Amino acid sequence: MPASLPAPTLPRRPRWRSLALLAVCLAPLLWPIQHLAERYYRSELASQNRQTLDLYVANLLGILHRYETLPQILGGLPPLREALASPRSSAAVDAANHLLKRIAEQTGAEVVYLMNTTGDTLAASNWDQTDSFVGRNFAFRPYYRDAMDGRLGRFFGLGTTSAKRGYFFAAAVREGEQTIGALVVKVDLDHTERLWGKTPEQLAVTDQYGVVILTSRPDWRYRATRPMSDTERSAVEATLPYPTRAPQQLALAETAWLTQNRDISETGWTVNLLAPYSLVERPVRSALAAAAGALLVLILALGLAMQRRRNYLDRIAFEGRARQQLELRVAERTGALERLNSRLKQEVLEHEHAQQKLVQAQDELVQAGKLSALGTMSASISHELNQPLAAIRSYAENAEVLLDHQRTEEARGNLKLIGELTARMASIIAHLRAFARRDHHAPESVALQPAIEDALALLAKRRRAMGVELVRDLPDAPLWVQAGETRLRQVLGNLLANALDALTEKATPRCLWISAEKTAEGVTLCLRDNGPGFTREALAHAREPFFTTKTRTQGLGLGLAICDTLMRALGGELLLANHPQGGALLTLRLRPARPGANLQPPEEFA
Ligand code: ADP
Repeated sequence: MPASLPAPTLPRRPRWRSLALLAVCLAPLLWPIQHLAERYYRSELASQNRQTLDLYVANLLGILHRYETLPQILGGLPPLREALASPRSSAAVDAANHLLKRIAEQTGAEVVYLMNTTGDTLAASNWDQTDSFVGRNFAFRPYYRDAMDGRLGRFFGLGTTSAKRGYFFAAAVREGEQTIGALVVKVDLDHTERLWGKTPEQLAVTDQYGVVILTSRPDWRYRATRPMSDTERSAVEATLPYPTRAPQQLALAETAWLTQNRDISETGWTVNLLAPYSLVERPVRSALAAAAGALLVLILALGLAMQRRRNYLDRIAFEGRARQQLELRVAERTGALERLNSRLKQEVLEHEHAQQKLVQAQDELVQAGKLSALGTMSASISHELNQPLAAIRSYAENAEVLLDHQRTEEARGNLKLIGELTARMASIIAHLRAFARRDHHAPESVALQPAIEDALALLAKRRRAMGVELVRDLPDAPLWVQAGETRLRQVLGNLLANALDALTEKATPRCLWISAEKTAEGVTLCLRDNGPGFTREALAHAREPFFTTKTRTQGLGLGLAICDTLMRALGGELLLANHPQGGALLTLRLRPARPGANLQPPEEFA
């Protein structure tokens, strides 16, 4: 029995544990990725914020620069000098008020005001408003002192009346070498905060004390970003720039903000732009997620590739095993086939041997058949020749007697008959030879009646001796049939001889009927006797060679066999039967032929 093939191994799952291990090993790769992404996004944000910062600083400086030179220029205006010169002249002060108001409106300054040498405000652009500076003393403000000292006064501070933030520029008003007063321009800085908008980045402008003065976050306003020194604290208390004398600390978590700053040297301020760290964290997280995803995909692809490789190896191994099994089976089958082949060879040899024996046996059989055929032939020849020989003997004896009695003419007639009979015997021998070689002549047209007469003539003497009455029923016109003259007479002679043989067994009256007629198929000839008829066995076997019911000396059993063969060779047939009224009835069926010219057969001498 062939060994069964090993079951194919099922595709195994990828080794998730080793993949997880690989993932753990590869995970640290995410750290440099995070680091790089952080650096990248931080620098991106920084460059973006730097631009914003630059823009804001430029804007702030633009505002400040616009008003920086204004106090000096305005200080030279005559109406203002007039007012300083005649502070009690309401017309002069009025004129100064109106002028300052006009200037404030035209320049966009929040307030423009004129102070005398004691720090009192003589005229102001807001003279007609409730929070008018007129009459107020601002000598405590540093800008006043700076202006009086001949410098440009600069100061950030909260308006003591308006409580509004502003930047103050102050310059001395001179009359020759003498300082007669100071002109101050207060610039509104509130709107610079509002410009900032609602971005995640926050603005914080700190002054020289580290206190937030402008910011996008109201809760950071006036908060100290660093601890103040004592000098600074006392300076704050003296100048009151903020609503509070001791600003609270602003605690900003360093990790929460990415800070960029720019110093404005002329004001001592620092503009800070604080971007929440989340702005960097978010894209870093996304980049990290993308990297992790890519890593995961890589690991999965690796896992799949490993699995495919393992499946491929499994398949190769399976195929290898299957091939081995197949080779084994082929070898087994080849062995079986070789055994079968050698057995077949043996059988073929035996067959050849048997064949040789068979051929030998066949040769022996052929030899035996030849001998048998020789026997049949010699029996047939002797049978066929016996009748004419008997007639010749009878004619010769007759001629002897006739010669004894000097009846030479009659003896000559007998000798002539003997000559004819020997010629016929030669013809019979020739025919038998031809019959044995199967090279008989083709049928020809033969008239039936002369052949019957000839056959009757051969047996006339015997018939008469036996007292057999002959009844003929033959048409006058010749019945032409397809036959050979000699063969037809041979058949008729045989049948007539058999009839006479049969009639010997019967007492008189003995009778022989011969009739012939033309039928649709051809010509039918009937020969009937009133002898004992065919026995049942004879009816069945009479056509077989050597079947005879007669004694050895009387019959050879070849007559009907030869007749049957000859009839079939002529395309006719011989039927054996018993007549209902007793006796044998032999019927010859012959094929019709066109009327022939010669009534003498040509084949006898052929
Ligand atoms: P043979 O005449 O030598 O016996 P045949 O072949 O001529 O051989 O005849 C075979 C047999 O057929 C005869 O032995 C005989 O029994 C039977 N037979 C032939 N003709 C007749 C006949 N006219 N009447 C009765 N029997 C016949």
